[in-house]
Amino acid sequence: MLQNDMLESWDRENFFHPSTHLAAFARGDAPQRVVTGGSGSYIEDREGNRLLDAFAGLYCVNVGYGRTEIAEAISAQAHELSYYHAYMGHGTEASITLAKMVLDRAPDHMSKVYFGLGGSDANETNVKMIWYYNNILGRAEKKKIISRWRGYHGSGLVSGSLTGLELFHRKFDLPLTQVLHTTAPYYFRREDRNQSEAQFVQQCVDDLEALIEREGADTIAAMIGEPVLGTGGIVPPPAGYWAAIQAVLDKHDILLIADEVVTGFGRLGSMFGSDHYGIKPDIMTIAKGLTSAYAPLSGSIFSDKMWKVLEQGTDEFGPIGHGWTYSAHPIGAAAGVANLNLVDSMGLVENAGNMGQYLRDGLTDALGGHINVGDIRGDGMLAAVELMADVDAHRFFDADDKITYQIVAAMAEDGVIARAMPQGDILGFAPPLSLSREEVDEIVSKTAKAVTEVL
Ligand code: PLP
Repeated sequence: MLQNDMLESWDRENFFHPSTHLAAFARGDAPQRVVTGGSGSYIEDREGNRLLDAFAGLYCVNVGYGRTEIAEAISAQAHELSYYHAYMGHGTEASITLAKMVLDRAPDHMSKVYFGLGGSDANETNVKMIWYYNNILGRAEKKKIISRWRGYHGSGLVSGSLTGLELFHRKFDLPLTQVLHTTAPYYFRREDRNQSEAQFVQQCVDDLEALIEREGADTIAAMIGEPVLGTGGIVPPPAGYWAAIQAVLDKHDILLIADEVVTGFGRLGSMFGSDHYGIKPDIMTIAKGLTSAYAPLSGSIFSDKMWKVLEQGTDEFGPIGHGWTYSAHPIGAAAGVANLNLVDSMGLVENAGNMGQYLRDGLTDALGGHINVGDIRGDGMLAAVELMADVDAHRFFDADDKITYQIVAAMAEDGVIARAMPQGDILGFAPPLSLSREEVDEIVSKTAKAVTEVL
């Protein structure tokens, strides 16, 4: 082992960190934390700090840190069979069992699951399968994908294009031309303040219809959406949104991808966001909560309707030319099996619903009515506090104010990790689903303290 006291400087000298201000980090002007341990809802760093992780890493450590059951399953799998591929009909006990467990939990009309590594590559798989599907059906022109502004679907070439946040396009020549964006279902930030929620939903529908009309339905293959907008601001949809959008898509024979990377496996207090909001997707993207991030693994779940056509394609054109070396990696799959068993045995889906509500109620009691708190929202174990320069005048802060970054830094000093969401002044919370009442109380009191200190 090389000398430990060098870690921070090695980090600055060698490590290209994702989603980081590279120059500031190299200069030592940006936050740096070397994380050394985790247990339950808490992580520890090299400075000896113990922090309550109210964002579960990147909303992924759903069962909490340090769960022995998962660590042991990973270890056993590595000893028994560290790797075998899934090409040409190969499987492992872990990957076959996990596929069965995923389908048992998914809506009835879903048929098969393909395993990848992360949410970004799962969405690449999805778009490829949609193109393949339409090619098999002889609809060579039906290829464009509609996404929403403020959606987050990853940061690859296609998945980064689907993402509707400007930061992820800037200087990358994205979005690709096959991707179109429509209105974000973000009632709190609607342009017309006089609109009722129902009128705003109608506007989302009209905007989608207008886009389809402009481009031609025969050029549009699919729409993708997160049941609850996540990285774009933790925004649950306005009432009736999904039913209205689904009706438009059905009318124009446009497929629907429910990106359940955040909402899958219990975060909303239901197994999937699709169950929660009555969405009937053709594809579901899953990742994070599939293994609680104990190992990288994602999935694309396909409906019966799509699967029949994919099978037909291989009868006509031969084996499907798609796959990664690490598809259905046995260690990821073993982590997934142990994780989903733990979600069940710990009752985490129910706990997410109950503790999430308790968290939002606590935030509302502590901060509702504050001159700078415009909105407190969320669903299940997801919560957001949206800050404004002046609530009465409905005036937002300037981007340069970096208010949420200051608050998040003050909270971290005090031992709680929240997230400054990348667009707007939004404090985000997505704690482990195993959160306790005492931990909720700690999050609420330290959030309120930091908000009142900074503002
Ligand atoms: N889709 C959603 C809804 C996400 O929130 C994320 C990541 O946060 C992704 C896709 C991309 O997943 P990954 O970062 O594993 O590639």
